[in-house]
Amino acid sequence: MGVDHGAGRDHTRKASAMAKTGLSSRSWWWRCDGCDSEVGFQAAVGSRGVAHFILDTLTPSDWNQSTLVVDCQRCGAHKLRIRYEFPRASPEFVTVLHIVGVGPDPTGYLPMLWETRFDSDPEGSVFDFKYLNGRSTLGLTKPAVVSQDQLRRLLRLYRERTGVAQFP
Ligand SMILES: [Zn+2]
Repeated sequence: MGVDHGAGRDHTRKASAMAKTGLSSRSWWWRCDGCDSEVGFQAAVGSRGVAHFILDTLTPSDWNQSTLVVDCQRCGAHKLRIRYEFPRASPEFVTVLHIVGVGPDPTGYLPMLWETRFDSDPEGSVFDFKYLNGRSTLGLTKPAVVSQDQLRRLLRLYRERTGVAQFP
């Protein structure tokens, strides 16, 4: 998939341009908070992409949040996290902090609650609902539809997996 291991502003701009072209292989990647290096899913976690990672690693781990932070092969720091570009008039880069989900159900529908951090607000975090339908990443850019029961389970799972007692 041709992800190079460069770092810095130029690389970030290139990633932005590539993400805009809709190249799914470059729309989701991993970035080290320590040395800014960026790598693809294969290099970071041996996975073919974000959907494969969620279905083959995160879901079977029962949403173990420690799978969302891995060692950086460049600087050794335990600071590699999933990264993507949030489409706005002026594109924003987003770092994934937490993901929990319920399912997938027999049809393959997997609604999730994501907590992310925008570069423009490095101390804050925001929440949104995304979904997977099988291994299609289409639902990762659309809001999930959840029942009251699914919503309750997502919020409870978030509390359990992050150790945050009071949420929301
Ligand atoms: Zn690093």
